[in-house]
Amino acid sequence: MPYVAVDPSTGRELSRIPSTTLAEARLAAARAARVAPEWWATGFEERAGRLTALAAALRAQVEPLARRMALEMGKPLAEGRSEVEKCAWVCEYYAEHAERFLAPQSAETEAVRSGWVYRPLGVVLAVMPWNFPLWQFFRFAAPALMAGNGVLLKHASSVPGCAADIQSLLDEAGLPDGLASVLFLESSDVGDLIDDRHVHAVTLTGSVPAGRSVAERAGRALKKTVMELGGSDASVVLSDADLDFAAAESVRSRLINNGQSCIAAKRFVVVDELHDAFVERVLDELAQVVMGSPLDDETTLGPMAREELRDELHDQVRKSVKAGAKVRVGGEVPDRPGAWYPATLLTEVGPGMPAYEEELFGPVAAVIRARDDDDALRIANDTDFGLGGAIYTADLARGERLAADRLHAGACFVNGLVRSDPRLPFGGIGISGYGRELSPLGIREFVNAKTVWVG
Ligand code: NDP
Repeated sequence: MPYVAVDPSTGRELSRIPSTTLAEARLAAARAARVAPEWWATGFEERAGRLTALAAALRAQVEPLARRMALEMGKPLAEGRSEVEKCAWVCEYYAEHAERFLAPQSAETEAVRSGWVYRPLGVVLAVMPWNFPLWQFFRFAAPALMAGNGVLLKHASSVPGCAADIQSLLDEAGLPDGLASVLFLESSDVGDLIDDRHVHAVTLTGSVPAGRSVAERAGRALKKTVMELGGSDASVVLSDADLDFAAAESVRSRLINNGQSCIAAKRFVVVDELHDAFVERVLDELAQVVMGSPLDDETTLGPMAREELRDELHDQVRKSVKAGAKVRVGGEVPDRPGAWYPATLLTEVGPGMPAYEEELFGPVAAVIRARDDDDALRIANDTDFGLGGAIYTADLARGERLAADRLHAGACFVNGLVRSDPRLPFGGIGISGYGRELSPLGIREFVNAKTVWVG
């Protein structure tokens, strides 16, 4: 099966790229395994130079890359531009800090000298999704490459142009031939590639089922994995919250990337005394959304990435309504070709409904009423996911305590939407996955922390 790009605004096919065979993928893995030790031997300075060149290559291509994402998966241009900038930032961040993050450590023992050093694992296979087609790859690849690893990318089959662009960027940055390769591998071949002796670790960003399947296979092969899976983050609006701000920030979070972000606020959990006023403010915010072509600069909501994803979302909405949720705005599939879905608000959402129990990966916000602050935190944690969460409150010290101690998630923000930042760890707990990306922690995922003892 080739990789096929379909314009989600129209449903028209844009391009197709023949798939890589498993034999070709194995060759690429062997080549990367051969080149990676030389790459490590060049030292941090040389690697930082290549990563800086990669950042420059990204910045030189902001417009065409943003356009490619708009065409292949519907991301509004302005968001695409920011994504490219952020990719350049993460390359520069690790170019600047990797040596310090991986500095040798010493420990006092009875030895003459003892401690540990960080050495690359070898070749890391990245299985990546379509929603942030550049960022998801670069946030993994920048630290992995700076740590001295080789990299193989199996991208989502719906964004072949983005995948090809990534290969061009890697080539342009002057990385050694074969060190970092993009494979158009079918997902059914990923397991066999994981078993290959030249693949040493795997990272996946995507859905829970894909994560389970890849982690299971890698587990059998005893290869290290990092899993960044879905989320059903809560936006917790406590009784002393600034309502206008909480509503605006929650809506902004929900609609990023046309609602298709793992760390979007998907459940707005609001204390009873603020509930009705909050809903009115959210409706005001949603009234300002401009749904249209992702290529128009005024557009704030483009189409979803694929029609079947839109259909799944609508099904979740319908089932929630059948179980008692109320549609306050949106909730109807527009009568036009493409993967369109309007910004939608559901209220009276409760346990048992898809909008409460599952991840809604599109522009649908679910408001859940809580009795009081304590109940709001209980509801926020009433999920198997654990990626992020936000708390809105006027009491910063209390907010910080609640974020640190009460919300069960990998990232908790107070008075601000959950976002990723190269300087801070990123990752989940529960079925949102494990391991951390970004920050000093991210670069230590795909290294051998090797003890060295000299008697
Ligand atoms: P998937 O998780 O299926 O796809 C993500 C990546 O994993 C793609 O490269 C895909 O390849 C690959 N993949 C899928 N299944 C397997 C497998 N069994 N073995 C190896 N690789 C696999 O995402 P979908 O596009 O199907 O989206 C479905 C849902 O996933 C969304 O509605 C959303 O809930 C969630 N999702 C979450 C994301 C996040 O950031 N947390 C990102 C994307 C999706 P291929 O494209 O060839 O199938």
